[in-house]
Amino acid sequence: MKKICLVLISAFLVFSCTESKKTFELTHGVHISGVTILAGENGDFSPFNGHVVTEGEKILYVGEAEPKVRGEYRKIEGKGKYLIPGLIDSHVHITEVQGMAYQQLEKNPELVAGFKAQMPRSYLYFGFTTLVNLGGISQDLIDFIHDQPLKPDLYHTGWSGASVANGYPMNFAPESIRFEITPNFIYLESEAENIPDQYDPADHTPEAVVKRIRESGAIAVKAYYETGFHGMADLPVPTKEILVRLQEEAHKNGLVLTVHGNSLEAHAILSEVGVDIIAHGLWNWGAYKSAPKDSLPEEIKSVLDKQIEKQIGYTPTLTVLEGERVLADRAFLDDPRLRKVIPGAMITWYRSEEGQWFAKELFEGYSPEEVNEIYGRIQAHGDLALKYLSDNGGLILFGTDTPSAPTYGNPPGLNGYAEIRMMHEAGVPLGKILASATVNNAAAFHLDSLVGSIAVGKRANMLLLTKNPMEEVEAYDHIDKIILGGEVVEREELSVRE
Ligand SMILES: [Zn+2]
Repeated sequence: MKKICLVLISAFLVFSCTESKKTFELTHGVHISGVTILAGENGDFSPFNGHVVTEGEKILYVGEAEPKVRGEYRKIEGKGKYLIPGLIDSHVHITEVQGMAYQQLEKNPELVAGFKAQMPRSYLYFGFTTLVNLGGISQDLIDFIHDQPLKPDLYHTGWSGASVANGYPMNFAPESIRFEITPNFIYLESEAENIPDQYDPADHTPEAVVKRIRESGAIAVKAYYETGFHGMADLPVPTKEILVRLQEEAHKNGLVLTVHGNSLEAHAILSEVGVDIIAHGLWNWGAYKSAPKDSLPEEIKSVLDKQIEKQIGYTPTLTVLEGERVLADRAFLDDPRLRKVIPGAMITWYRSEEGQWFAKELFEGYSPEEVNEIYGRIQAHGDLALKYLSDNGGLILFGTDTPSAPTYGNPPGLNGYAEIRMMHEAGVPLGKILASATVNNAAAFHLDSLVGSIAVGKRANMLLLTKNPMEEVEAYDHIDKIILGGEVVEREELSVRE
C-alpha cells in the first residue's frame, strides 16, 4: 500500500513540475529574475532571458520560466542586466605584497597589514571569485584568507613549486635558505655539489615531490622552464624526462601540470612533452627577438600549432610585461581605479623614493620612450602569438601572474581587468575572453564540477553586470553585484575604505 502511495506522489510531482511553475521553498536563497543569462554551460554563452535561484552556496535553478519562490530569500530584479559566472584567474601569487621585496616588507609592517586585509576584496571587486595560486604558499596564509569574511575561493599548488635545484625561481632566494623554502625542489645530478647534504635525493624525485604536493591539498603541480632573464646567469632547467615524469605522476594523483615558460625554447620543449598547461604566453622569441611586430616567424607558428593540436592550455599573462613597463609611467599611480584596490597610504608609499626602488632597478638611465620601445616590441610579439592561437582554435586560459615581479604595476583585481583589456586589444574575441576566464579555466584545473558556469548544482559564484560582456570589454568594470557562494555583495562594499 505504502509503495502505491509513493508512486502516486512522485507521479503528481512530475506532473506539477512540467505543467505548472517550479516551486522552491528556500531557507537562505536568492532569486535573480528577468536577467540576461550567459551561462557558459558546455561552453555555450548564448544569452537568454531567464531566472536563477540559489539556496545556500549552490545554484538550484537556471531557466527561462519564472519559478515560484517561497521562504527566506532575496529577490534581485535583473532587468537590463547580464549574469555571468564568477571569473577565475588561474595564475596569481597572493603571497606577494605588490611593490615590496623582503627588505621593504620588514620595514613597513603597517602598510603590509593594510594591503593584505584589502587584497582578497580587491580580487572580488573586479569579479575574480576563484584564484589559483601558482607557486609556494603557507598554511598560515591559506588560513588567513579562509578567515576573511569576503574572499575568493582559493586553490593552490602546495608549499612550493617543483623547481629544479638552484633553478628558477629558487635562484632568487639567498643560498642559505633557498632549499628550506623550496621543500618541493627536484634533485638534479648536475647540481649535486650545490645541494646541502641533508637533502636525500630520494625525497626529491618527481614522484616524491608530486606526492607531497598532493598531500598538501594542491590541485596542480607548478614547474618551471626558465634559463634566465634580466641578465641572469644560465639557470639549470628540467630535462624532458623530468617533465614527463612530473606530468605522469601529477595525472596519477589527479593533479594537472602547469609549467612556467615564456621563451621559444621553453614553449618548444613544453609543447613537445605535451604538458597540460603553459603558465605564460610566448613573447620571448629568442633568435627572432628583432622580428617585425606584425608577422609570425614560421618556427614560432609551428610551436603554437603543436599547442593547438595537443590543446595545451595557454595562459597569455600579457600584464607581466605591462606591469613592469608602467613603472616608467607615473600616470599609472593616478588611475582612480587603483584607489579602489590599494589603500591610499600604500599608493603614497609607491610614489616615495623608497617605493620607486624597483622602477630604478629596472629603468635607471632609460627614458620612458626607450622603455616603451623595448617593451612595446616584446609585448607586440606576445600579442601576435596570442592572436594566432585564438584564431586557430587554441585553448586559452585566463591568468595574469599577479604580481609577476616586485612591481606595483600588477595590483590585485585591477590587473585582471587590465589583462582582459589587453587580450581584447590583441584581437581575442569577447566570447573567447569570457570562456578563458570561466569554463576553460574550470575544466583545465578540474574545477568544472564546482565553478565556471551558471548551472544547477554548482557554486553560486556569479557577477551581475550592467553592460554586456559580449559587446563591450568595459562590462568587466561595470559590475553591479558579486554573488559569492550565494551571498550577494554590492561592488562598493569591496573597495578600499579609508
Ligand atoms: Zn607566476
